Amino acid sequence: MTKAKTKGRRAVDAAVRVEELRAQIRRHEHAYYVLDAPEVSDAEYDALFLELRRIEDERPDLLTPDSPTQRVGGEATGQFAKVRHRSPMLSLQNAFDEAEIRAFDRRVRAAVGDKVMYCAELKIDGLAISLTYAKGRLQRAATRGDGTTGEDVTANLRTIRSVPLQVTPAKGLPDVFEVRGEVYFPIAGFEKLNREMEAAGKPRFVNPRNTAAGSVRQIDPNVTAGRDLQTFMYTLDPAGPAKSQWDVLNALESMGFRVNKNRRRLSSVDEVVAYHAEWQRRRHELEYEIDGMVVKVDPHSQQQELGFVARSPRWAIAFKYAPEQAETEVEEIACYVGRTGVLTPVAHVKPVVVGGVTIRNVTMHNEAQVNEKGVYVGARVVIHRAGDVIPEIVSVKKPKPGWKMPTKCPVCGGEVVREEPYIAHRCINPFCGAQRLERLRHFAAVMDIEGLGYATLSQVIDRGVVEDPSDLFRLSVAQVKELDGFADKSAQNLVERIGAGGEPELWRFLYALGIPQVGEATAQLLAGDFGSIEKLREADEEALRRVEGVGPSMAHEVHAYFHGPGAELVDRLLKAGVRPQEAEAVGEGPFTGKTFVFTGTLETMSRPDAEALVRKLGGKAAGSVSSKTDYVVAGPGAGSKLEKAQKLKLTILDEDQFKALLPR
Ligand code: NAD
Repeated sequence: MTKAKTKGRRAVDAAVRVEELRAQIRRHEHAYYVLDAPEVSDAEYDALFLELRRIEDERPDLLTPDSPTQRVGGEATGQFAKVRHRSPMLSLQNAFDEAEIRAFDRRVRAAVGDKVMYCAELKIDGLAISLTYAKGRLQRAATRGDGTTGEDVTANLRTIRSVPLQVTPAKGLPDVFEVRGEVYFPIAGFEKLNREMEAAGKPRFVNPRNTAAGSVRQIDPNVTAGRDLQTFMYTLDPAGPAKSQWDVLNALESMGFRVNKNRRRLSSVDEVVAYHAEWQRRRHELEYEIDGMVVKVDPHSQQQELGFVARSPRWAIAFKYAPEQAETEVEEIACYVGRTGVLTPVAHVKPVVVGGVTIRNVTMHNEAQVNEKGVYVGARVVIHRAGDVIPEIVSVKKPKPGWKMPTKCPVCGGEVVREEPYIAHRCINPFCGAQRLERLRHFAAVMDIEGLGYATLSQVIDRGVVEDPSDLFRLSVAQVKELDGFADKSAQNLVERIGAGGEPELWRFLYALGIPQVGEATAQLLAGDFGSIEKLREADEEALRRVEGVGPSMAHEVHAYFHGPGAELVDRLLKAGVRPQEAEAVGEGPFTGKTFVFTGTLETMSRPDAEALVRKLGGKAAGSVSSKTDYVVAGPGAGSKLEKAQKLKLTILDEDQFKALLPR
């Protein structure tokens, strides 16, 4: 093919592609802005949008005024009266990474010089609204719509408590002015709504943003009123005496609007990058979702110099975070067998990036949960992953219940049963290889023995040299050297590391055993109370029940363990040379006879440190509140324990009051 012909072909392809993209983008915008029911993830939409913009940049001849790149997203539905905005409500340009924000900074400095100041605000993932005030009274509230025309949602917005119905206008403002900002659904309220939906047997809402949009655009304002929506405002038009975005935010705040406190004035792009990174880390501390940071050139004089492009100001940019939801497909539902034999269903999905991490597997709790969500092989699902939180399937495109747990263990072929009243299915073969591997892995992890991962443990099990944890302490350098991935030195090191784990703290030893119902906190209570493994083994159920925080069923399990399957294992461990340290006996001191419960976060010490301190001073630190509790120390974020303490009229201390009790 000649060069000219290739070029001609490419030109036609681009023209066709542009039309395809526009059609797809329009369809998605309608679903998102009008129906509040997006069909694809934001990341997929953004990718289409970006592709269209790139082609249009390269081929300005293909640009048309009705292209989605030239206008602001939504449109009015016709359910509400139409409202023309006094000045257009624009969209924002986006930066998806550091290079793009630096390019923005260069463009800004090229236009206004090197002395720039930025105002950085969190980008709230809600929907834009405009409030018009006349003589200090709320006259009209409108959605953004297509940027020029929005919908009149005054009756609905009046039900949101943080929208002031009357304000004292800042000095210098005209009689009629407009305030713009974001309406959003706080995460806690959103979760509460979804619990109510579930209880009523209705489908869950997918995300707070679209639910907020749907709630604002309800025909019946009572529905909006029941939804606990919130607002943050950030624009004042005209700005009156305010000379910068920073002044605007302060003016709005002093007029009584709700303004986000997490904002900062920054004098360089490096500071912008650092502040953005700080909120990327901290975004899950917030009670609302953010999808980035909005960076605005602060002084109004510089904003005016920069002006606007088609759909957005040149002086502002949305510096986005990686999306926390993405759509993918379930390829298989496998079952994973844990150390107690419980089968956990895991959906293997087509790899997808969520929250900056590639997700391949999503764990579900049990058969009931798979079916409540309606997950099946081939289902299109939306996955959510926030921060360090484990990824989960939040919704299924066409849910279908009916998935069944296998009746035979996928690892050992043993029988799988569901023991009422428990919801879980278990493989009941005590010799199941998967359970053995998981028990050993749990033991090694809790005992803090580095280098004993799944790969090594599977090999020692397969070779028959390790059956239970005590065998680990009998491993020889020669045996380890035989394993894949080991040489003289590394084998020597592993054997030494295992040996070094031979004097664990008592609580660690108890937790590592994997006694049913005994987690880390209970292990600490038992260790603190009995002090040595011998005393604990001798204890009858009655004595176990007396331990604060240990109920009758737990006492029964612990007793049964030490007089059943655990007796032999503990003997074997002791014989192999493991010596659990005696727990520091509860000291005598000012707290003798007193029981403390800590809840919420402490600011100047960790909870385990505070509990250790209580024990050292003679007291007990319990995990749950009861009438036997003397003091409840509550920090920020305290929840049900604090409520219970209030109900029982117990003494509640804050961190400072607790510290005042400590001897000087
Ligand atoms: P945008 O999200 O790119 O940014 C502009 C908006 O940011 C403003 O309208 C305002 O509402 C908001 N904002 C929040 N905090 C702000 C602050 N402090 N200062 C200024 N503005 C602030 O805007 P857009 O044009 O509404 O929409 C694009 C977004 O919608 C993208 O995230 C896109 O992925 C998503 N979308 C998704 C689909 C889909 O099908 N999934 C379809 C259309 C749009």
